[in-house]
Amino acid sequence: MVDRDTAIQEVVSATREAFDSGRTRPLEWRRNQLRALDAMLGQPEFVQALFEDLHKGTTEAQLTEIGVVRGEIKLALRKLSQWARPRHLVTPLTFQPASAKLVPEPLGVVLIIAPWNYPLHLTLLPLVGAIAAGNAVVLKPSELAPATSRAIARYVPLYMDARAVKVIEGAVPETTELLAQRFDHIVYTGNGKVARIVMEAASKNLTPVTLELGGKSPVWVSDAEQLDAVAGRVAWGKYVNAGQTCVAPDYVLTTPDLVRPLTKALKRAIAQRWGEDPRASADYGRIINEKQFDRLVSYLPAGSIGAHAEPQVDHVTGTSPDTGSFEIAHGGRVDRENLYIEPTIAVLPALIPQSDAYSPKTIGQSFKIMDEEIFGPILPIVPVPDLNTAIAYINSGDKPLALYSFAANDDEDHRLERETSSGAFVVGATMIQAGADSIPFGGVGESGMGRYHGRYSFDTLSHLKPVLRKPLRPDTLKLVQPPYATDSAET
Ligand code: NAD
Repeated sequence: MVDRDTAIQEVVSATREAFDSGRTRPLEWRRNQLRALDAMLGQPEFVQALFEDLHKGTTEAQLTEIGVVRGEIKLALRKLSQWARPRHLVTPLTFQPASAKLVPEPLGVVLIIAPWNYPLHLTLLPLVGAIAAGNAVVLKPSELAPATSRAIARYVPLYMDARAVKVIEGAVPETTELLAQRFDHIVYTGNGKVARIVMEAASKNLTPVTLELGGKSPVWVSDAEQLDAVAGRVAWGKYVNAGQTCVAPDYVLTTPDLVRPLTKALKRAIAQRWGEDPRASADYGRIINEKQFDRLVSYLPAGSIGAHAEPQVDHVTGTSPDTGSFEIAHGGRVDRENLYIEPTIAVLPALIPQSDAYSPKTIGQSFKIMDEEIFGPILPIVPVPDLNTAIAYINSGDKPLALYSFAANDDEDHRLERETSSGAFVVGATMIQAGADSIPFGGVGESGMGRYHGRYSFDTLSHLKPVLRKPLRPDTLKLVQPPYATDSAET
């Protein structure tokens, strides 16, 4: 589509002209834009759009989307002059007399490509950092959360500097055309497959990228004394937004003796939060679309899936050659028309460390649910004999975005911290690392590269330029220039 592509090219070059004009550099412009963004978030349409796209309740929308962005704006407004100030650098004695500083300067035009699962938060949080750092920005919200994408496209130009902050709506063709343009930084949040496309396109212009990706984030549970508290935190992290959260616990590793008590505690935790029938809860989300719904249902053994009209499916073991055989210990009711999947707990057979047939290395071949990031409200519990097996299992896969520990003692926490690698390691909680603007957020390996939030966003989206000053007199640099003193051994 020549017209569409030309329009996208024109938008990007207009954004570059706006940056080149210098209008985005003054701190006053940045502050005004941040205030405008905050005012924009007061539009009730955003809450409605999040409900439309993901059945997000008002409180959850405020807590996990709007409030997070507003908190980031508040911090940026408070700290901007400090962040933007030149930072003193020490100059070595041998350079004296001299002085050096690190001067943050805007990079230029930043492209932000966002996913559908927190469609407002993940589009606007990087925008806060990009504006604070004095950049012009092109936003590409996710087409899979169409109501939120529309609301962003409608309100951003009304509230913000329409010359320097642009929105392009669309799917793969639009993003492909955008990626053919030159940007000075790209922030991509989504899956690893598309991240590779983004990085390849970025390489043509040596554009730096921040890639915020996902993966299977494990939970280790051995704290038998506090299972109700543990279950509450795991259940919240897993089932909020119907499991469609990049830092959601993907699966639980625990010892066989804790499987039953933990399952019971999780059932109680689910009922306390979303009631006996979560379908009726205003606080329980829906799956984004049929494609994702069908993918999630395909993880469950065929005999175990209950249509919603039927009685609660409980303790049913189903089998299917594709999914493997395991027990649905809770939930399993689904309703395609309403894109509803009940909070579900799946108990897998215990891992046998030395077995050829079923070991940490082969579990993904036996169970599809252990092969891919689940990204939905199904929680597998995998019994393991001990922490050694848990660590070996975690290390046999890709580095996850998060690792959560609810261990019986500090030694286990320390071992997990030292002997595994993940975007973040959290003891005693799930998800909260993503909500603190003082803590950098990002993955490692397959879970991503680069970090942002708060000051880290500002630094990531700035060039931190060293500026060095040395007076011409006295001419101390003469000492390092030829002719060099001849080595006495050669004479
Ligand atoms: P998605 O399908 O909405 O894709 C994200 C963006 O990529 C969209 O804007 C889309 O238009 C664009 N896109 C899709 N295919 C493309 C292509 N072929 N070429 C160019 N652009 C393309 O979202 P998703 O990837 O399904 O999101 C879910 C994934 O994101 C999960 O793996 C999740 O863990 C991860 N995630 C990570 C974070 C994080 O902060 N680390 C946050 C949320 C989600």
